[in-house]
Amino acid sequence: MRISRVEAIALNLDLSRPFSGGTYVVKSRPTILTSVTLEDGTIGSIYGGDETDTQSRIVETINAVYAPKLVGEDIRDFQKLWQLMSDTFVDLGNRGLHQLDMHPRAILMQAISAIDNAMWDARARHYGVPLWKLLGGVRDRVPVISIGGYYPPDGQDPSEAIAEEIDAVRAAGCIGIKMKVGRMAVDQDIERVRAARKAGGDDFVLTVDANQGWKLGDAIDFCAAAEKLDLGIRWLEEPLTWHDQTDGLKRLASKTRIPINVGQGEITGIACRDLMSKGDVNILNLDCTLCGGVTEWQRVAAMARFMNVEMAHHEEPQIAVHLIAANPHALYVEIFANKARDPLLWELPSNFPKISNGYMEVPTAPGIGVELNQDVIEKYRV
Ligand SMILES: [Mg+2]
Repeated sequence: MRISRVEAIALNLDLSRPFSGGTYVVKSRPTILTSVTLEDGTIGSIYGGDETDTQSRIVETINAVYAPKLVGEDIRDFQKLWQLMSDTFVDLGNRGLHQLDMHPRAILMQAISAIDNAMWDARARHYGVPLWKLLGGVRDRVPVISIGGYYPPDGQDPSEAIAEEIDAVRAAGCIGIKMKVGRMAVDQDIERVRAARKAGGDDFVLTVDANQGWKLGDAIDFCAAAEKLDLGIRWLEEPLTWHDQTDGLKRLASKTRIPINVGQGEITGIACRDLMSKGDVNILNLDCTLCGGVTEWQRVAAMARFMNVEMAHHEEPQIAVHLIAANPHALYVEIFANKARDPLLWELPSNFPKISNGYMEVPTAPGIGVELNQDVIEKYRV
C-alpha cells in the first residue's frame, strides 16, 4: 500500500492567561497537524508538538524535504521509512558545533516525528486495528494524571491554590497530578507539595516537575525534606539544570529513593541510553513528537525495559495513550485538566477518549482513533 501524499499545516491559538512553570511561561498553544494519504484514499492524520519559534520551519521541512521522498513508498515499511528520513541530508545551517547544532537538529527531529506519527495512524488504519493493538496491546484503559500546579499570580496563597486545584483535578477524573516546583525557594515548594498531599489524600498520585530549575544542592535538599516528611512523591521530574544531565542525575540518584524522571526534551535514542546508563534515572518521559515518532519511542521503550527503567510520556495524550497502553512498563497518560491551559485538547478531537475514575479509555477505532474537528482546524490555522 503506497503513500500518495504527505502534508503538514500549523495551528496556533493564544491562551486566555499565561501559565508559569519552574523555568518558563506558556502564553500560546501551537501545534502541527500532519496527514499521510495512501493510494486507496486512507488518510492518517494526527496533531502533535507545541513548538512556537520554529513551528514554520518544521512545517516547511515536512512539506518540502520529506514529503517528496515518501510518496510512492510502502506504508508498511516503517523501519525503512524512518531510516530514509533520518539519512536525508538537510542543510539547516549546522556549524559542526555539537551543542549549537542541536537547535536545527531538533527541527529535523520534530519534522520526522510528525510524519512518523501520522504514518502510524495511516498504517494502523490500513491494517484495520487501533494503534495500541498493532504495537502490542497490553491494556484497554490507562491511568491518567493532570499536569498542573503552575505558580499562581501574586497575591494568591500558593498552598491554598494547589489544594483547590487538586479538588478540580480529581473532579476531572484524574488519579493524580504533576505539579510544578523549582521556581520558589525549596522550603516554599515543600510547603506547596505538603499542601498537595494533604488535599489529595494518601492514594492520590503526586509527582513533581522542576523543569530543569535546580542546581544539584537544591535538588538534594528538596528530596531530603520530601522524604523526611514522607510526602510519597511518585517521581521527581527534570530536577537539574540542563547542562548536568548525566553525572548530576547520577549523584542525585545516589542520595534519594524518590524515582527520577527525565527525557522529555531528548531528540535521540542514544541520549536516552546515556540517561539510563550514565545518569542512573528511573523513568523516561520521552515525547514521540520530539524524539523521532512512535518508531523511535518504541525502540527506546524496548531498551528501557531491559534496564529496569519505566516509561512515561510528556503530554500529547492523543497519541501517548496508545504507547502507554502498548507497553507493560509504561505508567500514566498526561492531560491538562485545566481547559484554559490546553484548549485544543478539548476542541480539536471530536471524540476524545472518555476519562473517569482515574482512567482514560483507549480508542477502539482503527488507527489513533481520533477524529479531528475540521471547523476547529480552520479556526486556528496559521
Ligand atoms: Mg516535564
